[in-house]
Amino acid sequence: MTGITIALSKGRIFEETLPLLAAAGVTPAESPSSSRKLIIATNRPEVRLLIVRASDTPTYVQYGAADLGIAGRDVLIEHGGAGLYQPLDLKIACCRMCVAAPAAFDYAQAVKRGARLKVATKYIAIAREHFAEKGVHVDLIKLYGSMELAPLVGLADAIVDLVSSGNTLAANDLVVVEELMPISSRLIVNQAALKTKRAQLAPMIDAIAGAVA
Ligand code: ATP
Ligand code: MG
Repeated sequence: MTGITIALSKGRIFEETLPLLAAAGVTPAESPSSSRKLIIATNRPEVRLLIVRASDTPTYVQYGAADLGIAGRDVLIEHGGAGLYQPLDLKIACCRMCVAAPAAFDYAQAVKRGARLKVATKYIAIAREHFAEKGVHVDLIKLYGSMELAPLVGLADAIVDLVSSGNTLAANDLVVVEELMPISSRLIVNQAALKTKRAQLAPMIDAIAGAVA
C-alpha cells in the first residue's frame, strides 16, 4: 500500500498529536470525537489516520496495517515492542505509573513483612516486573478499567495504575505509595515500512521530531 497510514487513539493522544501533525503539514479532515469514522482522511491525499483503541496501536503498526503510530510507553511495554522502531519520545500524554493503596493500608510494612500482596491492574507485565525486582510476592488481578474500585471492595490490597493529577485517587481515598516510571507517548514505526517507504516516512518523522524539540 502506498501512502502513509498513522494509527492513534482518540481523546488525549489525538488532541495532543494535532500540533505535531500540523508541523508535518498534516491536518485531519474531521475529528474522531465528533465523527464515528475509523479511517480519517487528511489535507494530504496520501496520508490517512486510523482511529484505534489505545492498547491496539502497537498491533496495527507491528503488522504493517499502519506505518506509523502514537502510543503510550505503558502500552508499548505491555505489548513488548516486537516489529516496532521507536524513534521519538513525543513528550505528550504525560503521567506516572504508580502503586496506590488505601491511605489506611500500611504498604511499606506489608512489603517488609513479606506479605503476599493482591494487586489489581490493567498493566500485568509492568506490575509483574516491578514486584519481581523487589522480591515481593503478588497475586496479580487483571482489570480493564476503574482500578481504583478494587481496593475499596476488597478485591485487592493495592493497584498499579497511571496517575496524572491524582484527583481520581484522592476521590477514592487512595494514595500513591510507590512511583514506577514516568510515562509519555512515543512515535512508533513499522520496521519493514521504514526500509521500503523511507523516502516518504523520513521527512514526516523529521518534521515531528522538529516540533517536539
Ligand atoms: P480506554 O480509555 O479506551 O480504556 P486508555 O485508557 O488506554 O483506553 P486513554 O485514556 O486515551 O486510553 O489513554 C491513552 C494513553 O494516554 C495511555 O496509554 C497513557 O500513556 C496516557 N494516559 C492515560 N491516562 C493519562 C492521564 N491521566 N494523563 C495523561 N496521560 C494519560
Ligand atoms: Mg483511559
